[in-house]
Amino acid sequence: MKSIARLLFLFLISTVIACTSGTTKSPDAASSGSTISGKVKLYSAATKGFIMSDKIVKSPEEWRKQLTPEQYHVTREQGTEQAFTGATWNNHENGTYLCVCCGNDLYRSEHKYESGTGWPSFWQPIAPENISTRADNSLFSKRTEVICSRCDAHLGHVFEDGPKPTGLRYCMNSAAMKFVKSP
Ligand SMILES: [Zn+2]
Repeated sequence: MKSIARLLFLFLISTVIACTSGTTKSPDAASSGSTISGKVKLYSAATKGFIMSDKIVKSPEEWRKQLTPEQYHVTREQGTEQAFTGATWNNHENGTYLCVCCGNDLYRSEHKYESGTGWPSFWQPIAPENISTRADNSLFSKRTEVICSRCDAHLGHVFEDGPKPTGLRYCMNSAAMKFVKSP
């Protein structure tokens, strides 16, 4: 009786070891998982200062698992949500808008304004370092795409018809951001 219990115990232990080691040392999981490719300097609203953060690179499969279909389409396939349908185009609460993919701080409510477009619009990001821009020549027009500096998520576009003092309109997708209310 004793030896059977012992065998059972050993079997259970080896199963647990096999399971846990399988998830940690599988080379496939590591290469398709979150990988770090360089560091990026970002402003952190939590620490009220700049931090050095790892760039975040994930496979499409991994982003799909983490995001809703709409969030995935907008951030990973350069999609645009329908105007007046997003969660925050008409949000007037005080807080911070974070990247829905990686949590990078993007915008503050005090820089949000009524653009009348149906998309959350800001006249400046929380810090220039936290977003990046690149030329977007799709849809037969020349636009400037705005992406997250940390994970390259597509966030929206920036136009030069915004209010003072910058004259810029950061036209964002609600689906690309997570709003965190100020305490
Ligand atoms: Zn991001």
